[in-house]
Amino acid sequence: MADPAELQTKLERLCDAYAAQLPEKFKHIEQVWEQLPLDSWDEEGFQTLHRLVHSLTGSGKTFGFALLSDVARDLEEHLNQIAQAKTALSEDQRQHIQKLMSELRQVAIYRETLFNDHAGLIAVAPPNHDALSPRRIFVLEDDSEQAEELKVQLGYFGYEVTVFNTLADFRFVMQRTSDVVILTDIAFPDNSLGGIEVIKEIQQGREIPFPVIFISAYDEFLIRLEAARAGGIAYLSKPVNIGKLIDKLDALASTLTTLPYRVMIIDDSIDITTYYSEVLEQAGMATKVVHNPLNVIKTLLEFAPDLILIDLYMPKCNGMDLAKVIRQLDAFVSIPIVFLSAEIDLDKQLVAMSLGGDDFLAKPILPQHLISSVNSRIRRSLILRSLVLRDSLTGLFNHTAIKDELDREVVRSKRHGTSLAFAMIDIDHFKQINDTYGHPIGDRVIKSLARLLKQRLRASDLVGRYGGEEFAVILVNADRAAALQVLDTIRQDFSQLRHLSDGKEFTVTFSCGIADVSQFREATKLIEASDKALYNAKHAGRNQVVLSDAPVAEVAGFI
Ligand code: GH3
Ligand code: MG
Ligand code: MG
Repeated sequence: MADPAELQTKLERLCDAYAAQLPEKFKHIEQVWEQLPLDSWDEEGFQTLHRLVHSLTGSGKTFGFALLSDVARDLEEHLNQIAQAKTALSEDQRQHIQKLMSELRQVAIYRETLFNDHAGLIAVAPPNHDALSPRRIFVLEDDSEQAEELKVQLGYFGYEVTVFNTLADFRFVMQRTSDVVILTDIAFPDNSLGGIEVIKEIQQGREIPFPVIFISAYDEFLIRLEAARAGGIAYLSKPVNIGKLIDKLDALASTLTTLPYRVMIIDDSIDITTYYSEVLEQAGMATKVVHNPLNVIKTLLEFAPDLILIDLYMPKCNGMDLAKVIRQLDAFVSIPIVFLSAEIDLDKQLVAMSLGGDDFLAKPILPQHLISSVNSRIRRSLILRSLVLRDSLTGLFNHTAIKDELDREVVRSKRHGTSLAFAMIDIDHFKQINDTYGHPIGDRVIKSLARLLKQRLRASDLVGRYGGEEFAVILVNADRAAALQVLDTIRQDFSQLRHLSDGKEFTVTFSCGIADVSQFREATKLIEASDKALYNAKHAGRNQVVLSDAPVAEVAGFI
């Protein structure tokens, strides 16, 4: 839980630091002003002056200097008018500017205490990733054979299962367990509704109930109702359809393990970036600050933010131009861009938005407003993005998305000199499976492999559906040998999975080809090489993982 008092202390410290820097800022503004020529128009010097004053307009209020912001805004508007004519300044204009500048210094003594109570701040609970580990499962089932079968099958999908055969054992262990998903039978030898009763008992007084899935041979409405009342999130009839069960568990896991939202903040003012990043980090988000717009692309590719906050006015490149550049990168066409600015001119705001910004937040912005705006925009865009980037059958990255990810990861691996392996997987004799069992069963096989890959690989690895029954996997920080080990284990497990069709069981295998960046340093070449290795795996008899036989590249050093 974020502590409002702690955030308050941090923000107060930022305000103090800002106050301490003000004399220096005034001096800088005056220097620029004094260097402007009297008898001609100096566009660059004038722009610098405008930018410095504008930054006071934006930052003043944020740090408790509201009056300073107001005077700076007057001055800025005056400068805007002058800038339209682009001619040497008249005596009147000079005097007016001079007057406003001395006012700036005068009003700087008026400082409000912004955070005198916690009212302006909210305790935002950062997503608690440790509260529940959705991969740990307790199975409560008196039929030990059924329980063991469940354990083995769920094990293939990366779930860690502990089995209890009696209510007493389960009750005993639950006294000191707080983070499991429970699968339970309902009828026990000593109590025909024992499963429901024990769940009611352990859920009592818990703030966050355990996720419970009931598995039962009963199919009566009243029992289902009782199960729901006891906090069951699902009710499955016996014999258990493993596919359905895994779907429920996966859905649960994905809602319980959302990674922290990533926000990139681009602003030349260190005061402002520190302030926003403190506020957002306190709310559980990850932030990356960029002060020099020219470094943006590099950081974008590496940090892969979910949202970008951009200041409108920065030296060298303004926020609008930057948004245009970002939008030209394929991987960032749909990322939300939010302009943060003291710009109150509605026309300019509209221009900024038409150039690729999604929204405008006016400085100063209160911490809780910033958090909620950023949060809701990211949530919305993630939902939309997942529809565009994800394959609908498997939920994996689609063909285009996984290729984009590979481009990104290759850049990253070059920069850091880290290893990276790429694997292509193709299900063996899949046409035959479709022909024998029908297309829907084929789809289920594809889904089961997708799940297995997702669950067995590390969270940092990326999995995509490359084509019909073809998959692509990017293994970060892994070379060919490491990738071979991981994928070969997955291959063996996949070949053990028992698929069902009309009560008949069958098994399926896949073949896989792997290449890594020590052989090829371009995404297209990696794809080609792993595809060739996959072809070799097929020819060597299928159901195997084969490494690309291309030699290690001689190309000198990483960039
Ligand atoms: P090999 O071992 O050489 O890979 O043989 P294969 O039969 O798997 O290869 P082939 O590429 O000839 O056949 C792939 C089949 O996959 C053909 C196509 O009908 C089927 N397929 C492609 N996409 C889907 C899908 O989304 N669902 C289902 N059920 N089948 C699909
Ligand atoms: Mg195939
Ligand atoms: Mg194929």
